[in-house]
Amino acid sequence: MKLTYLLPLLIVLSTASCSTAQKAQMVPQAEKLTQAEYDALKPEDSESYAYTPTAVTPGFMTAPPSDAVVLFDGKDLSKWHHPKHGYGGRMDQVEKIMKLRATEQSYTDAKWEVKNNSMIVVPRSGAIETKQSFGSCQIHLEWLSPADEGKEGQMYSNSGVIIMGLYEVQVLNSYENATYPNGQAGSIYKQHIPLVNASRPPGEWQTYDIIFNAPEFDVKGELMKPAYITVMHNGVLIQNNVELRGPAIYIGQPYYVAHQEKLPLILQDHGDKVRFRNIWVREL
Ligand code: MG
Repeated sequence: MKLTYLLPLLIVLSTASCSTAQKAQMVPQAEKLTQAEYDALKPEDSESYAYTPTAVTPGFMTAPPSDAVVLFDGKDLSKWHHPKHGYGGRMDQVEKIMKLRATEQSYTDAKWEVKNNSMIVVPRSGAIETKQSFGSCQIHLEWLSPADEGKEGQMYSNSGVIIMGLYEVQVLNSYENATYPNGQAGSIYKQHIPLVNASRPPGEWQTYDIIFNAPEFDVKGELMKPAYITVMHNGVLIQNNVELRGPAIYIGQPYYVAHQEKLPLILQDHGDKVRFRNIWVREL
């Protein structure tokens, strides 16, 4: 490698290690005590009563628990609409859309079909988004890839759960259907390959259980904490608290752009008749 290529890399690496060291100093650490102080410690000193966890009634199987916001119960699309400004495939598009969305609330009715207790993407009718906005949350949804249609790769049942309209958990038929691994079902699109492929065959219902921790920005818009995400696919852990590098974009490398604490959840129309049902969210 030529030195001209190496120098910027060294500068980046030294800057990265410097900021890592600064972060490490900011993490509060317990003090080392004297022997006498250790001997005086009681176990109850480290008990916390900061809050008592609220009792909730767990749902049977995958039915919504008592404190969930139900976004789709099989009946209608009343919790959804179609956004005029949806999501971007490149960072310049993302930035443009975010500005438009912040200044111009514009949407029309969701046009997806509701049939047999599920909602079905109507190709080219556009993405749908929740009327309610969410930040950190737990999401449950069920989806189904219709069998075959002679499709393959990214064209076989592509959709997506785009959290905050920015961070996509890929929906795709990945049962015996190869594609780039960081774009297969359960990938954090173009950022994290799933740990395993827990896909069921087309024609069978599948589940996603997602834990999303929203990114945090300071008043100047500087990133204070990146987004983290955990995903269970059909009950199998496939993303273990992975750190996001920014929005899930199609082309190029992502970076964070400051945004509101809560934003709508988007489901993608990628031209395939993917079905969804039993969608609920618990705010964290
Ligand atoms: Mg997708």
